[in-house]
Amino acid sequence: MRSTMQESPLSIARIVRYAATFHSSSETVTWTGESSRRRTYGEVGTRAARLANGLRSLGIQGDQRVGTFMWNNNEHLEAYAAIPSMGAVLHTLNIRLFPEQLIYIANHAEDQAVIVDGSLIPLFAPQLSSMKTVKHIIVSGEGDRSLLGSHAAVHDYEELLAAQSENFDFEAASAGTDEQDAAAICYTSGTTGNPKGVAYSHRSIYLHSMYALTPSAFGISAADKILAIVPMFHAMAWGLPYAAMFSGADMHMPDRFLQPEPLCKFISQEKPTVGGAVPTVWNAMLAYLDAQEPKIRVDSLRDVAIGGSACPRALMTGIEERHGVKLLHAWGMTETSPLGSVARPPAGLSKEESLAYRLTQGLLPCPVEGRITDDNGDVLPNDGKAVGELEVRGPWIAGSYIENPNMPDPDAQKDKFRDGWLRTGDVAMITPDGFITLTDRAKDIIKSGGEWISSVDLENAIMGHPAVAEAAVIGVPDPKWDERPLAAVVPRAGESVSFDELREFLGDKVARWQLPEHWAFIAEVPKTSVGKFDKKVLRKQHADGELEVTTF
Ligand code: ADP
Repeated sequence: MRSTMQESPLSIARIVRYAATFHSSSETVTWTGESSRRRTYGEVGTRAARLANGLRSLGIQGDQRVGTFMWNNNEHLEAYAAIPSMGAVLHTLNIRLFPEQLIYIANHAEDQAVIVDGSLIPLFAPQLSSMKTVKHIIVSGEGDRSLLGSHAAVHDYEELLAAQSENFDFEAASAGTDEQDAAAICYTSGTTGNPKGVAYSHRSIYLHSMYALTPSAFGISAADKILAIVPMFHAMAWGLPYAAMFSGADMHMPDRFLQPEPLCKFISQEKPTVGGAVPTVWNAMLAYLDAQEPKIRVDSLRDVAIGGSACPRALMTGIEERHGVKLLHAWGMTETSPLGSVARPPAGLSKEESLAYRLTQGLLPCPVEGRITDDNGDVLPNDGKAVGELEVRGPWIAGSYIENPNMPDPDAQKDKFRDGWLRTGDVAMITPDGFITLTDRAKDIIKSGGEWISSVDLENAIMGHPAVAEAAVIGVPDPKWDERPLAAVVPRAGESVSFDELREFLGDKVARWQLPEHWAFIAEVPKTSVGKFDKKVLRKQHADGELEVTTF
């Protein structure tokens, strides 16, 4: 028996229309360093219509790709609203990619036009002449446009919008769009090989937004003010922009002001309630907040998502106890839209038990199925003990990477998809009640004498020492054990600590055989384009003899 329900396609156009009509006075707020620039969702609706008309006037048709090379700000949100709603595909270019990767992804996605933030022209312009399909650059804000040369036609964002009608029939434009058609594209940072592209559908974004809003995830309503520090050029800012429009919550964006001082000023002035950023950002904020007298208040923040790499215990408890901000640990990846799980503990637990749940990578939600497999691909039990590669599947999980026949990549899908499951490359255990704990990334785990040592566990334990600002652990070759851990430690400014003290500190926290015998002090842990520890660089520094290592 078929159901008797209406078939109503899930679409971005619907999300935008809803925000622009029923939440027309909700605000989108961009920080300028000292104060805020504000627009309403009503204005976002009309400006998105103008942008869609502007893009049509430049020849953007059908599902052509339009790139953005922008900070988190009002104009970027307008691009999020307009481009998928007109049936085109939004391609958020990661401004922190290496030049050759940026060229690769613009060519691979066949971007026709790119909206570029004026302040980012010096970073973008050198690659432009290699972006074969790009015909138009639309510059938003101040910047030296002469650097863009003559490879593509250059337009001013505000002039383009001003010249257009504020009416655009999004419904007609998206009439031919199926909910499974692409709405937006993100490429992974490509730590090995070429970057890999994921095309999110209207349907996957719609369903993912609904999940993000639930009390099991971020618990957002129209009464909230969202602060998206996580970049809109990386994994769709964890779904926050569309979740904001879906719910009518205000959207707050820091633009290029990502240091603790302007961020804290923004927070104390605008009083956002929820948000998201990676651990390196919260770590820097905590150190800054701790050093301020009188205290800066940031406790308007109720629940803020932290993810992208594991949240250290000292960070979660420190920011909550000293500054009243509750961190909400989440796990995901570009391939999972990106929310895969959120760590909301079950009811009825003591504070300590609850904290243990909050430090896991979270509970798999109903739509995301997870399992762990061993080296042979056999499925292991969800008993909270067995450790294997995490695989997931579900309506907002990638089933393959984008292929461009003009740029074939024979390895594109290799080892990433199995029987309809995405292989995450993360090593994890799953408890019987569905919480996942990541022990490491498959490529970072340290294989010592046939046993696995989690580099992440060691890092978290070392970072629990009050004199340690950051620590990264890598496996280094060992003639007897294959690999042994090397801990690279950044002491907190003005503090000193010896390796002996650190080894003693770890004594009751890690098994004896896991204790690192190689130690080095470093000035800073190298970071990837999105602020994660870049252990590839650290391994190379070690291999090149650049680290001064003490061995016990
Ligand atoms: P990449 O870092 O390769 O560019 P993503 O930004 O998509 O790709 O990162 C996804 C990866 O980040 C996950 O596979 C996982 O290893 C790591 N990650 C994400 N969230 C967490 C978390 N809460 N704890 C630990 N690791 C995490």
